[in-house]
Amino acid sequence: KELLTVNRLYKTYRESGTIVEAVQDVSLSICEGECLGLVGESGSGKSTLARLLLAIEPPDSGEIQLNGESLLALKGSALRKARRHFQVVFQDPNASLNQRLPVWQSIMEPLDNFPDVKPPFLADVRYCRRDTAVKLLEMVGLQAGHMERYPHELSGGQRQRVAIARGISLMPKLLICDEPTSSLDVSVQAQILQLLKNLQSELRMSYLFISHDIVAVRIMSDNIIVMKEGCIVDRFASQEIMSPN
Ligand code: ADP
Ligand code: ADP
Repeated sequence: KELLTVNRLYKTYRESGTIVEAVQDVSLSICEGECLGLVGESGSGKSTLARLLLAIEPPDSGEIQLNGESLLALKGSALRKARRHFQVVFQDPNASLNQRLPVWQSIMEPLDNFPDVKPPFLADVRYCRRDTAVKLLEMVGLQAGHMERYPHELSGGQRQRVAIARGISLMPKLLICDEPTSSLDVSVQAQILQLLKNLQSELRMSYLFISHDIVAVRIMSDNIIVMKEGCIVDRFASQEIMSPN
């Protein structure tokens, strides 16, 4: 069943006389539970596409549908409600974390904003914000003792785990991972990929996994699209590459 459908999306930037066609005629779909990989070199339009999906910016034209409902027509509280189904994990975990707050408060922010959302994995948690944060930390492999720490007191990998805990807290239908391992030490990249993979099968979320690293994309994805200069230039199933025959 199709979760997300993107139809003929365009986004152009005009800056001091230059025109950049950042996203051009992009169409794609993501099914429930699917992980779609998006590869392309720096500047190919991947992050712009992610921002359009997250409704951080509007496209110039095109359609974005969630479960068949058009997102671009939504405003106000209807848009706010729809947006909770799309969460993001950025390349830099600090982009998701308030440096002045202990990490448990950053983790709880999305749930605080949507008090009526109760994800099934929190069903056995006594409704108390701290217990909820402990459960979320546990789901990303961090001990409860980390909850009072501040981001600067954690390693890069731990910070990204916290950002992931925040990203899954509302049990989004789609988790957009924009270069989630690119800022991390090579030694922890595989651990974060493993965590994302485990969470996907546990929570049955769909992913859009964005990376310039074809190996990571292949490990994570069912299907892969390749972007170049704003356009989708190739599409294939993950098994089609690097298979023995
Ligand atoms: P990524 O890490 O996905 O490549 P970046 O945020 O580094 O994304 O930006 C990619 C490119 O987009 C860079 O060349 C950057 O200069 C350009 N860019 C991003 N935001 C802006 C902006 N507000 N104005 C001009 N250029 C921008
Ligand atoms: P990627 O994520 O693949 O690195 P981006 O989506 O960041 O690519 O950038 C695509 C193109 O759009 C680049 O040429 C970049 O410089 C440009 N761009 C991105 N954001 C902006 C912006 N806010 N203002 C102007 N140009 C931008």
